[in-house]
Amino acid sequence: MTTAPSSLSVSRKGGSWLLDETPASDVFTPEKLSEEHRMMAKTTTEFVDNEVLPSLDRLEEKDWQLARSLVRRCGELGLLGIGVPEEYGGLDLDKASSLAVVERIGPSASFATTFGGQANLCILPLVLFGTPEQKQKYLPRLVTGELVGAYALSESGSGSDALAAKTRATKLPDGSWSLSGEKMWISNGGFADVFIIFAKVDGEHFTAFIVERAFPGFSSGKEEHKMGLHGSSTTPIVLQDVRVPAGNVLGEIGKGHKVALNTLNYGRFSLGAMSSGGCRAAIGAAARYAAERRQFGQPIASFGAIKHKLGEMTARTFALESLVYRTAGLIDASLGPAPHEGAAIARAFEEYAVEASISKVAGSEILDYVLDENVQIHGGNGFVKDYPAERYYRDARVNRIFEGTNEINRLLIPGMLIRRALKGELPLIAAAKRLQDEVLSPSVASAGFGDQGVLDEEMRTVGAFKKVALMVIGTAMQTYGEKLTDEQEVVSFAADILIEVYAAESAVLRARESSTSRHAHSDLKVQAARVFVNDAALRVDAAARSALAAMADGDTLRTLMAALRRILKTSPANTVAMRRALADAVVAGRGYILD
Ligand SMILES: Cc1cc2nc3c(=O)[nH]c(=O)nc-3n(C[C@H](O)[C@H](O)[C@H](O)COP(=O)(O)OP(=O)(O)OC[C@H]3O[C@@H](n4cnc5c(N)ncnc54)[C@H](O)[C@@H]3O)c2cc1C
Repeated sequence: MTTAPSSLSVSRKGGSWLLDETPASDVFTPEKLSEEHRMMAKTTTEFVDNEVLPSLDRLEEKDWQLARSLVRRCGELGLLGIGVPEEYGGLDLDKASSLAVVERIGPSASFATTFGGQANLCILPLVLFGTPEQKQKYLPRLVTGELVGAYALSESGSGSDALAAKTRATKLPDGSWSLSGEKMWISNGGFADVFIIFAKVDGEHFTAFIVERAFPGFSSGKEEHKMGLHGSSTTPIVLQDVRVPAGNVLGEIGKGHKVALNTLNYGRFSLGAMSSGGCRAAIGAAARYAAERRQFGQPIASFGAIKHKLGEMTARTFALESLVYRTAGLIDASLGPAPHEGAAIARAFEEYAVEASISKVAGSEILDYVLDENVQIHGGNGFVKDYPAERYYRDARVNRIFEGTNEINRLLIPGMLIRRALKGELPLIAAAKRLQDEVLSPSVASAGFGDQGVLDEEMRTVGAFKKVALMVIGTAMQTYGEKLTDEQEVVSFAADILIEVYAAESAVLRARESSTSRHAHSDLKVQAARVFVNDAALRVDAAARSALAAMADGDTLRTLMAALRRILKTSPANTVAMRRALADAVVAGRGYILD
């Protein structure tokens, strides 16, 4: 019997945080993890530290038997079946459990990709879209790790434009299918047994199929020579008239996009969580190195320039962690207690697709920032292979490319919100109109936003970010109408602002809640949130100015700029002192200590 934890966030519609005020107590945070969650996180950390990290060199030599045995170990530890119904050998736990695990898998670098290929890209679409027969046939052995899974969507000519795939499926007289074509860059491609492969029926109807390596006509090509992730298999998949049984269509014919997109929605959320885990590990490595490395007769951790880096790495990681946990809580609140039906899970992922894209973009970019500074803190030792800093730096770069590039995800973030608004699901247009009326009145300022005594000013600043987001989106809709999608730069600036809104609000709400509940290190959490909001204000201002200047000129632009200045009127905080406090704490604790 499994239980879903009760301390999850209140159910809200995806994207509603842009228009509504959220009480801090409604938000799921790492501090609210149950004992069960913490046990799973601990088990995963021990597995990664004791079994995966010592194996990385052998994995990088393409020892795929070792990779298979590590997948098997994940199965034994129960890490592969967290979201799988009990009848197929899983635990059917909440997404907070998955998050606690993938966050700890994140630092395992190459192996995190192997794990993701199995759990997120093969097991998950089977749970979401499989028939009872398909689930019975494949899930139990995927959950134990006896079978290894993969997901083959991309082709050499269709990466971002995945629906333009050329792989064809033709129905044969006995009802089975013949698949022909070539897939590219497939994770686990060199040794997986079961593949979710996308092909077009009669060159037209995009459809997902379950394909086994053992089917005649199936082969995988040579391993790619990559910048990083050398311990993860990436190969092309060649399909030459591969005979696929009639019962192996996954989902409906012509509805492969649903399988692909819902799988990616979860993959994006999960990548945000893995990135947060990677950040935590890198902060630990950087803090330990800074404490031990001495120059000019003192530890480099005593220098302000190094404190600035450690403080900023910590503040950004705090915001990232806050937003991924908040998102897990939202998904869980909408799912309710187990058992969870595949269709209901798919609906929940779709509801929070905007938040998943934000997790992916913020996660991959904050991780790149943190890993870059980790190399810098290590100096020359950061550039040589004796220390893991250089491997992490190379391994992480692909996160901005796969699971939908960050450019594509940026376009999706405002795009999905606007689509919901046009369908009447989110009152964004009315809110933007109201704001426009306010903008013409010189009295507009950042309004009060749930004063609670802690971080009130930051909360008001987040309220101001929301107004700026509405101003930019409203002006863009009015200026470009249906042609807004052609204006990618403006849409991307709007996405940048929305990402800052969600990240900053999540950090502030968590720090507030932590402070009210007197959690450990709540004073540091408040400082991390203040640092993040202070600098987010500068980023929001820059993005808004660039977007508005692209859409207006003359008096209109002057009016908009005056309104922007009034809305975003914030006093700078002493972030130098706060970053120093954060840096001193992570150095003293020899790691990220804000969870
Ligand atoms: C290590 C690794 C593992 C991978 N694993 C898998 C896997 O397991 N399964 C799988 O199916 N695929 C996998 N991929 C493929 C990955 O998903 C694609 O590389 C990714 O989707 C980008 O596609 P692309 O490489 O064709 O780039 P392109 O789509 O050609 O993009 C090139 C550039 O153009 C930009 N761009 C493209 N279209 C637009 C647009 N409309 N507007 C604005 N900018 C645009 C992109 O953002 C990017 O910056 C993997 C890739 C790598 C490197």
